[in-house]
Amino acid sequence: MFKKILIANRGEIALRIQRACREMGIKSVVVYSEADREAKYVKLADEAVCIGPAASALSYLNMPAIISTAEVTDAEAVHPGYGFLSENADFAERVEKSGFVFIGPSPESIRTMGDKVAAKQAMIKAGVPCVPGSEGALPDDPKEIIRIARAIGYPVIIKAAGGGGGRGMRVVHTEAALIHAVQTTRTEAGAAFGNPQVYMEKFLENPRHIEIQIMADTFRNAVWLGERDCSMQRRHQKIIEEAPAPGIARRVIEKIGERCAAACKKMGYRGAGTFEFLYENGEFFFIEMNTRVQVEHPVTELVTGIDIVQMQIRVAAGEKLPFTQRQIAMRGHAIECRINAEDAFKLTPSPGRITLWHAPGGPGVRVDSHVYTNYFVPPNYDSMIGKIICHGDTREQALARMRTALSETVVEGIQTNIPLHRELMVDAKFIEGGTSIHYLEGWLGQHRR
Ligand code: ADP
Repeated sequence: MFKKILIANRGEIALRIQRACREMGIKSVVVYSEADREAKYVKLADEAVCIGPAASALSYLNMPAIISTAEVTDAEAVHPGYGFLSENADFAERVEKSGFVFIGPSPESIRTMGDKVAAKQAMIKAGVPCVPGSEGALPDDPKEIIRIARAIGYPVIIKAAGGGGGRGMRVVHTEAALIHAVQTTRTEAGAAFGNPQVYMEKFLENPRHIEIQIMADTFRNAVWLGERDCSMQRRHQKIIEEAPAPGIARRVIEKIGERCAAACKKMGYRGAGTFEFLYENGEFFFIEMNTRVQVEHPVTELVTGIDIVQMQIRVAAGEKLPFTQRQIAMRGHAIECRINAEDAFKLTPSPGRITLWHAPGGPGVRVDSHVYTNYFVPPNYDSMIGKIICHGDTREQALARMRTALSETVVEGIQTNIPLHRELMVDAKFIEGGTSIHYLEGWLGQHRR
C-alpha cells in the first residue's frame, strides 16, 4: 500500500479523500490555492502546499505545479477527485510518466470516454444500449445529415463529441432548423472544446437520469454497485441523488448493471466509474461514462457499505477487489442533498463569509463538508459547500431523516439552497418518486420568487 498520496483537488472531496487516507494509515499531501488557505482539509493536513493563486488555471489545473509538489513531498500516487484534472488523459499520462500512480483508469480509457463519439462506439461494441443516433460523427454533406435525422425521427439532439458539463448540445424539432443547428454546434464545439465533431441522437422527451456505479481492478474483475437516480437537476446540474432508483424493478436494474460490469471487463477498465443512462419507458440509453469518483458516490456507499474512495486507492495500489458481485448486498435507501452557496430560487451564487455553520447529526445522517463557522467561501469555484446524505431502512425513513437534518442545519452569513431542499423534501411528486429530469426546472418555474 502507498505511504503517501497527493490530493489534487479542493473542497469537500479533498477532505473526503484525506479521511479515506487517514483511515487506511496513509499520509496525504494537499495542494491548495491562495483562496483555499482557510479550508478545513488544509488546516487538518499532514502536509499542505500552496500551488498558486485563486484562478484554477494557475492552481488546480496547473499540471507542472501539482507534479512537482508530488516530487518534493515524496508522494507515490495522485488522487484527482472530480472536476479539475480528474478526466484529463494528458494529466494522467504525465503523472504516470513522472513515476507516480494515477488513482483512476488508464489514460487510454479516459481518452476514449472523453470523446463521446468514441465512447458510444465502445459501448455499442460492448453491448451497452445507447440512444438511437448517428453512427459516429456527422458527415459534412447536408443531404446525408437530413437523411440521418429522418431515419432517427424528430426531435433530435446535436451533441459535441468533446462536450461536457451540459454544454455543446442543441435540440432540433424540425428539418428546417437542422442544418443551421449542426453548423452552429460545430462552430461552438470547435471554439469551446477544440474538437468540431458533432453527432446526432434521438431527443428523449421525458427521461429519468439513472446511473450505474462500477468498480474494477487490474485483474479484469469488475462489479457494479447498484444504481443512483439523479433526475433532480437544474441547468443540467444534479442537486439531489438517491439510491436505489424508486419504482424500477430489480431485475431491470440487474440486467443493465451486469452489462456495465461486463463492458468494463471487456475494455480492461480499472478503478471507479459511472455509466450514465437516460431511462424512459422501461428502457436504458447510455449517454456518457464518467471515469472518476462522483459527487454523489456517498449514497452508494451508504446502501452497499463499501468505501468507494478507499477502493479506488486499493485497486490503484494493485490489490484485487475484495468481493465478488454475489457478495454485494444493498441495504435500505439513501438520499443526498447538495448544499450550494447560492440563492435558493434565483440560483445566483452567494460566496462570502459563513458567520455560523451548524451541521445536523443523528442516526443515518452523514455530512461531507470542508466548511465551518467563520470560513470564507471563495467566489472562484463551484458553489457547492457540502453534502448532507441520509440513510434509512426505507425511502420513507431516509426522507424523514433528511427533513430533520435539513431543519437542524444552520448556515448564516451567506445564502444557501437549503430552503429549496426543505420544500422539495415535502413535495408530493418527489415523495412519490420517479420524477423526470425536467421536473425540477418546471417546479422552479412555478415557485420562482
Ligand atoms: P454532459 O457531459 O455535458 O453532461 P451528457 O451527454 O451527459 O452531457 O448530457 C447531459 C444532459 O443533457 C443529460 O443529463 C440530459 O438532461 C440531456 N441529454 C443528453 N442527451 C439527451 C438525449 N438524447 N435526449 C434527451 N436529453 C438528453
